Amino acid sequence: MTAVLDTTAHPCFNPHAKAKCARVHLPVADKCNVQCNFCNRKYDCANESRPGVTSSLLEPLQAVEYLDMVLKRESRITVAGIAGPGDPFANPERTMETLRLIRERFPALILCVASNGLNISPYVSELAALQVSHLTITLNALDPVIGSQIYAWVRHNRRMFRGIEAARILLDRQLDGIARLKEAGITVKINTIVIPGVNDDHVLDIALKVSELKADVLNCMPLFPVAETPFGILPEPSKEMIQKIRKGAAHFIPQMYHCTRCRSDAVGLLGQDRAAEFSGCLNQAAAGPTHPAQRRPCVAVASWEGVLVNQHLGEATHLWIYKRTDAGYEFLEERATPPAGTGSQRWVDLAGVLSDVSTLLVAGIGAAPNEVLASQGIAVVEMEGLAQEALHLLQRGGDIRALRKRQATGCAGRGGGENAMAGLGQCAGPGTGCG
Ligand code: SF4
Ligand code: SF4
Repeated sequence: MTAVLDTTAHPCFNPHAKAKCARVHLPVADKCNVQCNFCNRKYDCANESRPGVTSSLLEPLQAVEYLDMVLKRESRITVAGIAGPGDPFANPERTMETLRLIRERFPALILCVASNGLNISPYVSELAALQVSHLTITLNALDPVIGSQIYAWVRHNRRMFRGIEAARILLDRQLDGIARLKEAGITVKINTIVIPGVNDDHVLDIALKVSELKADVLNCMPLFPVAETPFGILPEPSKEMIQKIRKGAAHFIPQMYHCTRCRSDAVGLLGQDRAAEFSGCLNQAAAGPTHPAQRRPCVAVASWEGVLVNQHLGEATHLWIYKRTDAGYEFLEERATPPAGTGSQRWVDLAGVLSDVSTLLVAGIGAAPNEVLASQGIAVVEMEGLAQEALHLLQRGGDIRALRKRQATGCAGRGGGENAMAGLGQCAGPGTGCG
């Protein structure tokens, strides 16, 4: 599913957008693979505005439910981001699953991720495929000796590293990640925490290096001394120090001047954060189902005879409904679909009919119903073959994407009818299009 995104509508990357475009951070990153000497993720203080802080952690499905609640109440949201409270690629499965779910359900949203960069390289091609358009890497040192003062440890390939070796590994991975992101056409922001007496004399070297790597913007962030961290006793950099550094760095790379150092659960316009207001929604989502089957226990199947997934949605006057039980999916009923002739309202009505359905298995579907159903939280799988096989896979929590038809076997209207009846290939769509 590829939507045309307005990537200029990102308030952090485009200062002209910050008065009208809002962002929401989804706190799904539960772990970190690095320990920075300025970070403490232990505390949640409603008055504290800094990365690493959140009121609740969310599972991927909960994050999508929370996003849905936020979008219904804050229409200016253009960006969904993952920025902590840990690192999104310390537990990449959660991050990638969240991004997949969001992209499926909200195709027009800008997706944005902020990471320390240690483990981003293996995921760059999938990030690009999901149209994740904006990435931030926090890079605080090029010199491993300086880096060894900033990082207590780095965990890489299941091993712990400390000191100069840790800083060198992190740097190598960061530089590789930035280069790959740029090759993939992703907009890259570098965050550098300015730490007085540690790296403040080093920031221009960083600016030069990341400009050579074609990073798009540098955000020099003043250290926020956090209690109970090794850097908690350092002074906050003065405004003059930050201004001087930014002025020098601007010779190499454009600067970000309007960062508001957001929490991992920030929501709203920059500088007008509504995280406290939305904390009820966040907590409600965090208490909600973590698996689609808990919220929507049924699967709907488009089938002529109830055995094969072999019917185009546009032709289905009934869907076969199966309900999840501990023993597996059991047939519940045949459920009538709304009649044709009402245009797109038919698909809105169908979403209502399928309010207990998490997944719809069809041989073919048009773009319009696909979009309406996905926006209502129903995963549509265009597939071929036995319904029971798909239901077993869903019961086991397997990756339903494995069942999807290859793109080339998409809807071919009437011409594909015979193969579709045999569950072998193209759908038996009505030939009039179903959207
Ligand atoms: Fe904290 Fe981010 Fe550093 Fe991890 S990488 S310790 S979350 S600041
Ligand atoms: Fe944007 Fe800065 Fe907030 Fe990140 S911390 S979302 S860059 S304003």
